[in-house]
Amino acid sequence: MSKIIATAAIRGAHAMVARAEEDLQKTIKAKGKDAQVAYPNTAYYLPIMLLFMGQKVQKLGDLEESLQEAKSLLGRIPDNELWLPYLGETLDSGVATLIAEEIIESLKYVNGNPVEGIWLGFTPDNILRQQGIKLVDGRMPGFVAIAGCTKKNSEAVDLIQGFQARNILVFMAGNTNGKAIAEQLAEEGVEMNWDTFTVPYGKEITAAIHALNFAARSAMTFGGVEPGDMKAAREILLYNKERVHAFVMALGADSKAKGLDDGQLITDEKYATAAGAINFGFPVIADVPIPEIHPTGICTYEHVISGIKIEEIISRAIELRGLTIKIEEIPIPVPYGAGFEGERVRKEDMHVQFGGKYTDAFELLRMKTLEEVEDGKIEVIGPEIDEMKQGEAYPLAITVEVAGREFQEDFESVLERRIHEFISCAHGIFHMGQRSIIWVRISKEAAEKGFKVKDFGEILVAKFHDEFSKIVDRVQVKIYTDKAKVAELVNTAKEVYNHRDDKVGAMTDEDVEEYYSCTLCQSYAPNHVCIVTPQRLGLCGAYTWLDCKASHQIDEHGPNEPVKKGDVIDANKGQWSNINAYIDVKSNGNLKKFNAYSIMEEPMTSCGCFECIAAVVPEANGIMIVDRDFTGMTPIGMTFSSLAGQVGGGQQIPGFTGIGKLYISSPKFISGEGGHKRIVWMTKQLKDEVAERMRPQLEVEGLSDLWDKIATEEDAEMPDQLVEYLTKVGHPALEMESLF
Ligand code: SF4
Ligand code: ZN
Repeated sequence: MSKIIATAAIRGAHAMVARAEEDLQKTIKAKGKDAQVAYPNTAYYLPIMLLFMGQKVQKLGDLEESLQEAKSLLGRIPDNELWLPYLGETLDSGVATLIAEEIIESLKYVNGNPVEGIWLGFTPDNILRQQGIKLVDGRMPGFVAIAGCTKKNSEAVDLIQGFQARNILVFMAGNTNGKAIAEQLAEEGVEMNWDTFTVPYGKEITAAIHALNFAARSAMTFGGVEPGDMKAAREILLYNKERVHAFVMALGADSKAKGLDDGQLITDEKYATAAGAINFGFPVIADVPIPEIHPTGICTYEHVISGIKIEEIISRAIELRGLTIKIEEIPIPVPYGAGFEGERVRKEDMHVQFGGKYTDAFELLRMKTLEEVEDGKIEVIGPEIDEMKQGEAYPLAITVEVAGREFQEDFESVLERRIHEFISCAHGIFHMGQRSIIWVRISKEAAEKGFKVKDFGEILVAKFHDEFSKIVDRVQVKIYTDKAKVAELVNTAKEVYNHRDDKVGAMTDEDVEEYYSCTLCQSYAPNHVCIVTPQRLGLCGAYTWLDCKASHQIDEHGPNEPVKKGDVIDANKGQWSNINAYIDVKSNGNLKKFNAYSIMEEPMTSCGCFECIAAVVPEANGIMIVDRDFTGMTPIGMTFSSLAGQVGGGQQIPGFTGIGKLYISSPKFISGEGGHKRIVWMTKQLKDEVAERMRPQLEVEGLSDLWDKIATEEDAEMPDQLVEYLTKVGHPALEMESLF
């Protein structure tokens, strides 16, 4: 353990705690001890206090207790002769620093709004959950928290694109000599937000706390670890060390900072924050030669390595944290990776576009015989990009033909739905929608780098081979940009889509002998199992029965297994003998049984990545459904965030269940409690989104007038308002058998 680090980190912790105390006293003086303090849209109070102290901070006065805890953790600043042989005191000072930083950052919300310009501030729970899914399914191998800046802006851009191409989430906080890497990226026009995996938290190093409170909440949300005492704190930290593959990157020397010792290259506050991160098992990598810490113990590998050249820093970091990363080798002239998936191409930056409201465009994937497919063949029928005029819209048809001995026609739609993701991951390409409602843009930058229409084919050939090698032997792609040809083909494509919908829509849970399990989320919620049936898809909305079937065919040791239903125990509630036996084993004995279609009796459990939550509204004798994008209050007096905090983690909570959006229009929707007639409230946005599927379904059930009787936040926010509304419109739930 280096003396310099210990001294600087402990000194930094003292400074940080002193600042927190000063900020707190000032704020209390101005607002009083009873003033509220909270981060926006979270059920985890101030997550760092919840983690380390089990403290539920709500008022400024509560922060005095937090501050006391931080003070008690502060180590004595070692004098120059003293040698600290182990990390203990430094780590405690690290925790003190984190508590102080959480105080400082949360006070910013009390005193104004820290979210301004490029800085995003605290991550709300709904975003945590969205990004959590990417961590769960492996799209994101980990995250890096960068403090500081690079020498040149171009190095910053290269570094960030390197992380994006490896799908590593980038958090940014702090600066070096007044410059932050996020500012360098902004100067270079790099789009920074959650969709592009680049998250600028704040210019001060204290904002790094948001990366750590994100990590702490990941363990609580997905790991189901209940915070409260030191044992839980240790579990949360261990969870992070083992499952949240993160590291800290300190860039640049703080040559202009005051109060540095001779030869000290990084400020005390940065050392102190790094000591805090090491508690989470997150190692530190620096480009400047700060003292290294090698002994392994808390981190999986070294705690600190330094003096790494900027060109090598990503690969060294990956080794250091032991990440498994696959870089996609796709023969196209632009970088490729999930970090580019969510980027948009604005009109000013666009070279050409296809579809949207401008032209006909669609994509279609069909199964062919082996003889019919010449592997790797890509044809462009119609003008190529160099024959197109900048700023114009052109028609587009992407048709993919696959052949494989194990391929089945049912898999067509499963593969076809992946086209969106595959194409979006190319840097400078925007893709939205599916089937005949796609909208695609190619940026000027991509066009300048030589991206061609043909490259859509390159991407698809490579990705279908890569991800579906078990079922796909040959792939060929025909891309049409010829107007007449696209107009002619779009009708045939629509017939295919309709045919598929009829087939899938007609499939019932009674039709099949086996359902599929999904245990993908067990990497985060170890006791959670989804049972996916034709009429109830996985709660994340990403896995239908057909998806699971294809996924099993692709990898029989993967997360999806066929499970024979066995004897029907209760057809209405959805309980089967073999399913019970299976979940008993797979939930590690935590669940003995569940009902797929009941919310009141042994409902299916939830991991944390549900698209929506259904919950009973006792006063209305019905249920409400809230989607995860809704940040307002629901009629049961809880936000989505606070509900999610209760429902997740693989526990069975009668009255609450996580569901996928498609399940809402299923004929099996909570049939155990009477089905659709029980829906009394939905968020407006969700109601609009599912209307197209709900209306015909309600008609079939003879309930066509029900739809307009379901309230939204525009009709009622409080339970009594809701009951009043339901009485006025004559909602049937009020007359149904009591739910309790
Ligand atoms: Fe997770 Fe269930 Fe979705 Fe599988 S189906 S990814 S277990 S939420
Ligand atoms: Zn999940």
